[in-house]
Amino acid sequence: MARIVMKFGGTSVADLDRIRNVAERVRRQVASGDQVAVVVSAMAGATNQLVGWCQALSPLHDAREYDAVVATGEQVTTGLLAIALQALGIEARSWAGWQIPLLTDDSHGAARIQSIDASGLIARMERGQVAVVAGFQGLAPDNRIATLGRGGSDTSAVALAAAVAADRCDIYTDVDGVYTTDPRIVPRARRLDRIAYEEMLELASVGAKVLQARSVELAMKERVRVQVLSSFADDGQTNRGTLLVDEDEIVEKEIVTGIAYSRDEAKVTLRHVPDRPGVATSVFGPLSQARVNVDMIVQNVSAEGATDMTFTIGRADLPRVIDCLERERANIGFATLLTDSDVAKISVVGVGMRSHAGIANTMFRTLAERAINIQVISTSEIKVSVLIAEDYTELAVRALHTAYGLDA
Ligand code: ADP
Ligand code: ASP
Ligand code: MG
Repeated sequence: MARIVMKFGGTSVADLDRIRNVAERVRRQVASGDQVAVVVSAMAGATNQLVGWCQALSPLHDAREYDAVVATGEQVTTGLLAIALQALGIEARSWAGWQIPLLTDDSHGAARIQSIDASGLIARMERGQVAVVAGFQGLAPDNRIATLGRGGSDTSAVALAAAVAADRCDIYTDVDGVYTTDPRIVPRARRLDRIAYEEMLELASVGAKVLQARSVELAMKERVRVQVLSSFADDGQTNRGTLLVDEDEIVEKEIVTGIAYSRDEAKVTLRHVPDRPGVATSVFGPLSQARVNVDMIVQNVSAEGATDMTFTIGRADLPRVIDCLERERANIGFATLLTDSDVAKISVVGVGMRSHAGIANTMFRTLAERAINIQVISTSEIKVSVLIAEDYTELAVRALHTAYGLDA
C-alpha cells in the first residue's frame, strides 16, 4: 500500500466525460490498494474566463476580489469529481483550501503556501476515503481566499504530497511527460524519461507550462517524488511519463536539455532617466512594493548624465506597472515611458552549460541566421534567455531545437 497524490489539470477535467475518465483512473489507483488524495484544476478555459471578467471590469482590480472570483473554478471540479467517484461506488469528498486548511501568505493573486494541517484529511484517507482537493487556492491571514498564481494547482499537489507524506505525486496532464520543448509547437520534441529538478525548475521558471516553477522548487526542498504523466493514455497503454530526479541520477548529461518560451512578457523602457546613484531603487523600489516581479533588466550607456532603462515584467502586470511608474514620474525623473507587449522570451536550459562554452553564441548565431533581432539578453549558470518579437516565437524555438541537436 502506498499513499499517492494524483493531480489533474484543466484539459484532464475539461468536461463530464473527462471527469468520468479521471474518476475511473482514481478508482484503479484505489483498487490497487493505495490511499489517494486527488488535486484538481478548474475545467479548461474556466480560469481564463474568470480572469477576463475581472480585467474587463477594471484593469486595476482588487487582488482579494480577483481571488474570490478565480478560485471558484476549482470548487466546481472538486464537487463534480467527488460525485463521479461516488457514482463508481468510491467513498470521496471535496475539500476547498480553507477546509483543510491550507494557509497562505497575504500575496493575493500569487500567494505562497505557509502551512497545511493535513491531519483531518489523513484520518479520512486512512479510512479509505478519497480526498478531492481544490488546487490553486488557500486561506490567507486576512481570512480571505487566496490563489497561488497561474498554474498553481501543481504547487498545491506537491505541497499536499509533502503534507501527507505521500510516496509519490503524479501530475496528470495532456502530454505524456516533459519534453525537450513544448511538443505542441515542435512536433520533433523528445520526451525525457528523467529530468533533474534544477533543470525542470529553470525550464518552468522561464515558461515551460507543464509544471509551475514553485511546485518544482517545493518538490526539491521537500524531497517529493514527482512524475508527469498523461491523463489521456488509455488503460493498459504504457504511460511512461517523466520522473524528476537529482542531477547525479542522470548518467548521460546533455549540454542543452530543453528550450522554453514565454509569451506572458511585456517590455518597459524609461527614456532619459538621470544617471545617478539611487535611480535604480527609485524605479524598482515602488515596483517591488506593488509586488511586481521584474525579470530582465538592461541599462544603456549614459550620455549627458542620462540613460535609458529597459526591463521586462509579466504582461498581466502592465496596467499596474504603468500606473505605478506614472505616479513616481517626478521622483524618478524619466522623460518618456514606452511599453511593448508584443514580445516573447526564449530560453535555452541545461546543466551542461556549467562546463561548456559557446552555448550562448550558438543561440545568437541561430537567431541571426533567421534575421531575428535580440532585444534583451539575460543568463544564469544553466540558462540563456533572449527577448524577441512575439511573432518569431515558434520560428525561434524550432530553429534552436534543431541547432542544439534536440530533434527526435
Ligand atoms: P494542465 O492543465 O494539465 O496543468 P498545462 O497546460 O498547464 O496543463 O501544461 C501542459 C502543457 O504544457 C502542454 O500541453 C504543453 O503544451 C505545455 N508545455 C510547454 N513546455 C513543455 C515541455 N517542455 N514539455 C511538455 N509540455 C510542455
Ligand atoms: N486553474 C488555474 C489556472 O488555470 C490553476 C491551474 O490550472 O493549475 O491557472
Ligand atoms: Mg498547468
